[in-house]
Amino acid sequence: MRNRAASDGRPLGVPWSRARAIPAARSTHQETFLNTTGQTTGPDTSVSGPDTSASGPGPSASDPGAFASGPSTDTLGVSAARARSATLEKLILENPGRFRVLTGDRPTGRLHLGHYFGTLRNRVRLQNLGVEMFVIIADYQVLTDRDVADNLTEHVEELVLDYLAVGVDPARGTIFTHSAVPALNQLMLPFLSLVSVAELNRNPTVKDEIAHSRQSAVSGLMFTYPVHQAADILFCKANLVPVGQDQLPHLELTRTVARRFNDRYGSGTAVFPQPDALLSSAPLLLGTDGTKMSKSRGNAVTLAADADETARLIKGAKTDPERHITYDPATRPEVSSLLLLAALCQDRPPQEVAADIGSAGAAALKKIVTEAVNECLAPIRARRAEYARDRAYLRQVLREGNERARGVADATLAEVRTAMNSRY
Ligand code: ATP
Ligand code: MG
Repeated sequence: MRNRAASDGRPLGVPWSRARAIPAARSTHQETFLNTTGQTTGPDTSVSGPDTSASGPGPSASDPGAFASGPSTDTLGVSAARARSATLEKLILENPGRFRVLTGDRPTGRLHLGHYFGTLRNRVRLQNLGVEMFVIIADYQVLTDRDVADNLTEHVEELVLDYLAVGVDPARGTIFTHSAVPALNQLMLPFLSLVSVAELNRNPTVKDEIAHSRQSAVSGLMFTYPVHQAADILFCKANLVPVGQDQLPHLELTRTVARRFNDRYGSGTAVFPQPDALLSSAPLLLGTDGTKMSKSRGNAVTLAADADETARLIKGAKTDPERHITYDPATRPEVSSLLLLAALCQDRPPQEVAADIGSAGAAALKKIVTEAVNECLAPIRARRAEYARDRAYLRQVLREGNERARGVADATLAEVRTAMNSRY
């Protein structure tokens, strides 16, 4: 759902005072449910606003949210989400067991540096802190912007490989695919009834993706996929979703769906939590062409790439004619994204990287970035190669994850059917 409310500075977690397109049957319950998290234990939602004293998540980035690519950051509500993320970080450290994470990716290609610094590193960090983790491989959503899901099995297995390589532990978390969990998909039907076509139409990320899509006509699946994503998140009652900034409007829709479902069918109790987005310090890493790094835009440095390919790709990255290198995301997005990349790899501020380069120009910048990326990814790439030798293990991870996810989804669907009075 388009995060309109965010443009007025409303932080995530604070009531949306705008008139709702579909009035809920028991709207007086709205405020009560805003601070509930359903059956799963959730964050301390009494902290519903942002901690405005916080400068944002992550140690190194100054203002990565200000990169200009795709919908404006104001439209997406990035600054409010960053402030909320800082508050959440404190709550997670206090009590990680109160959170359940749902996160995931489309199997449209290999994962890239945008994934790694945008969400993957956060996933592993949360897992290691003791947060329960569900990782969805969104295979149905491959078809949102293309006619055929090419090489699906290969892409799915490669995603599992990427997860294992960065440190996702299948013994502690659940890695699963959309298509193997029918009850999850069934949740989409009641959820679709809770949103209006006008709301779907306003979603800035869907608009951006339609603009980059390979299809001449917009499919129903593309149009409604944020609702599908609400089902992905709510089937396991996740209350925390580590995402890149493009996902913020979808998270807002998920919160709306949860709230409306609870209002309409909850009979005074919250069936679903209202999950929070957790932004990393790199919520929008740019690709070699200066737009959002994406699997399907041919502008990505993948985790699986070797050192030479990485060097070649970074050498071809877009920069600007200014020889003196400075970190200024608003006016120099491409140069700043490269600086941020080196900074994230080396765990130091991007301004410091810029100062080291000074007037040495874009070639020097790219050399530093290439070395930093290759050094940072070397152990991940080594682990990836190791895991790649055992395809049977990858399939076993999926089989076990699918089984666990089915159990959770069946239980939630049973609860939904009871709430909706449709158990016969
Ligand atoms: P596709 O081009 O197929 O849509 P993608 O590269 O956009 O692929 P997704 O699978 O759509 O990747 O995104 C998975 C997760 O990774 C989401 O949380 C998304 O916000 C995050 N993500 C993707 N690209 C970036 C990026 N460039 N910077 C930060 N986060 C990103
Ligand atoms: Mg995407």
